[in-house]
Amino acid sequence: MLCICVRVRVPEKIIMKIKRHKTRKVRIGDLKIGGNEPIAVESMTNADVYSPSKIIKQIKQLEKAGCKLVRISLPDLRSASYISTIKKNTMIPLMGDIHFDYRIALKAIEEGIDSIRLNPGNIRQKDKVRLLVQKVKERKITVRVGSNAGSVDRNRYKKNDADALVKSVMEHIRIFEKAKYYNLIVSLKSSDVMTTVSAYEKFSKIRNYPLHIGITEAGTRFSGTVKSSVGLGLLLARGLGDTIRVSLSCDPVEEIYTGYKILQSLGLYKNMVDIISCPTCGRAGIDVEKIAAIIENRVRGLNRKLKVAVMGCIVNGPGEAREADIGVAGSSKEAILFKKGKMVKKIDPDKVIDELVGYIEKF
Ligand code: SF4
Repeated sequence: MLCICVRVRVPEKIIMKIKRHKTRKVRIGDLKIGGNEPIAVESMTNADVYSPSKIIKQIKQLEKAGCKLVRISLPDLRSASYISTIKKNTMIPLMGDIHFDYRIALKAIEEGIDSIRLNPGNIRQKDKVRLLVQKVKERKITVRVGSNAGSVDRNRYKKNDADALVKSVMEHIRIFEKAKYYNLIVSLKSSDVMTTVSAYEKFSKIRNYPLHIGITEAGTRFSGTVKSSVGLGLLLARGLGDTIRVSLSCDPVEEIYTGYKILQSLGLYKNMVDIISCPTCGRAGIDVEKIAAIIENRVRGLNRKLKVAVMGCIVNGPGEAREADIGVAGSSKEAILFKKGKMVKKIDPDKVIDELVGYIEKF
């Protein structure tokens, strides 16, 4: 079978540029969200809420991966009492996830939380909601108000559709707007991609609060990555989204790397090594799958705008490799290393990984 590696050059002027939807700017700790600020990648801890040391360890891992905002579940007053300890030992802003009990939110605020995720509609007593909104306003704490398809009131909304998500979130937003408080971030999530996209589109036409976007309960590392990439891709390409979470049933650190990769794929994030590799075929002279996977894993934390090519053979390989900052193309006995379009040297196929990583680190 003939090789299918064909490069098509897209003229610069027809490359689609993403025009971001204009939103208000809000602040969570030192992090600015909305307006023209870079899109933040966030995640949520899943360590034991009663073990501050485990939470701190996980937040540090997320910080290292580039997480800009971390959310933590606060199911009760005890879990909220650890906030000041967690804050003293970590750097990134902390958002407390609170439902039903206004006292947990008050406790979290007293402990120095940077932000809370709250649905005031979850708190039945209206006088308590007013008290909470007053406290949030005093401390200028940004609140994420979110509706989730799973928690939309089915007595009021017959369907779990985009309209129900928008109407539900607007009920919550009006409580803050009545108090003239506007430091809000809004989310409208469903596990159904097109419902989510439609909800954000509808909402963006009526309010300009910054948007936290994601596909909720997206699934495992594989399914969740695909679903989130499609959903976030559709939204981001429409200019919607100021902060993102890729919701995966796995280590939250993976959510961060996946989030940046989605942004990088759309040209919305640059400081990340981009590994391109060929699909391989019978001509491959090096183990592309293994080399590309190991290299990707070793350099994924590097904040560097760099394109690295791993190509199986010299038929089309060098052509692709020359386009990259650094590239390698295999042949039966040796691999050819390219740097900025120039052949640097021939190397032993067994030494490809170390050679490439060495060059990437020096670049
Ligand atoms: S080995 Fe890779 S680069 Fe070479 S022809 Fe096959 S797919 Fe293309």
